[in-house]
Amino acid sequence: MNILKDTFGRKFPYIRLSISDVCNFKCGYCLPNGYQVDKNDNRKFLHLDEIKRLANCFSELGVNKIRITGGEPTVRKDFFDIIKVLKFESGIQNVSITTNGYKLDKKAEQLVNSGLTGINISIDSLDREIFKNITGHDRLPEILNGIESLQSIGFENIKINAVLLNGINSSIKDFNNWAKFIEKNKIDLRYIELMRTGDNLDYFKKYHVSSKIFKEYLKENKWIYQTFGKDAGPSLNYINPKYEGRFGIIAPYSEDFCKSCNRLRVTSRGDLRLCLFGNTGINLRHLLQKDDQLNELKDLIMKQMQFKKESHYLELGETGSTINLSKTGG
Ligand code: SAM
Ligand code: SF4
Repeated sequence: MNILKDTFGRKFPYIRLSISDVCNFKCGYCLPNGYQVDKNDNRKFLHLDEIKRLANCFSELGVNKIRITGGEPTVRKDFFDIIKVLKFESGIQNVSITTNGYKLDKKAEQLVNSGLTGINISIDSLDREIFKNITGHDRLPEILNGIESLQSIGFENIKINAVLLNGINSSIKDFNNWAKFIEKNKIDLRYIELMRTGDNLDYFKKYHVSSKIFKEYLKENKWIYQTFGKDAGPSLNYINPKYEGRFGIIAPYSEDFCKSCNRLRVTSRGDLRLCLFGNTGINLRHLLQKDDQLNELKDLIMKQMQFKKESHYLELGETGSTINLSKTGG
């Protein structure tokens, strides 16, 4: 039963948990200069026991899905242990990750064996040069090989995220490349509108473009909008009988985006974030130290629900405490 509800009637069966702020890529919209080590920062990210207690607590509050994110979650040495503990010891049914796909070709088998139920891989372009320019890494082939490896061992729940960037990956040619890719590939490709964060105003001004251009492409090419009901999350999904895969759009600047919000976030240091953007939230870490703190932790989380706002107010230029998404967990 889903116990987590806010004052606007939204339910929260889904948690995004960041396990590290560290990342090995340099995406222009997120960490253009790469991850910077701050000497004053202890980088003490939630450890395995804390993660397990947190997941147990959310499971008792009716959460059935946790997505592990970062930074880049796979850079953590105990990454596979985290997946296993979540999947087999916490009561959570669906354990997925969002990853940049670094060394995916080498990790595919271990990922599947660890009990992972879904994977979102970030690939902003199928053009090797463009991919390299955006991320700072010439790693597109290993990521695509990794996807093939996942598929060859029967892993099916694969989604690809691409941030829509004006003049970089937003042409008809780019859209057609993806269409060709998903024609025989049972993969969801979702374009995400570039979001403004505390750090990326200039980049945002230069490259943000509304996802309407992609919507028009979908319409012209006979893709059909598919509805899943109000608790299905904020992605708009499109199908086409000629294609194995589906297209999707994540448009945070659209009017109704927050109405279907079904997720809460916890940062790598244990801050509960009621919204990706916004300052509301509280640190939970002091209640993750012993198993017998479970009820106190549940109470604290439940009480926080009343503070969840109706919208992120991004359209008003609000970025809250989000400096970049690697810090909050995108
Ligand atoms: N490192 C992993 C990855 O890139 O998939 C996980 C963390 S990353 C912050 C999660 C997602 O957020 C990625 O798909 C990334 O492209 C997206 N993202 C990061 N900054 C963004 C921004 N300013 N606007 C829109 N999406 C962004
Ligand atoms: Fe790293 Fe992901 Fe941010 Fe790219 S989007 S810099 S891969 S955290």
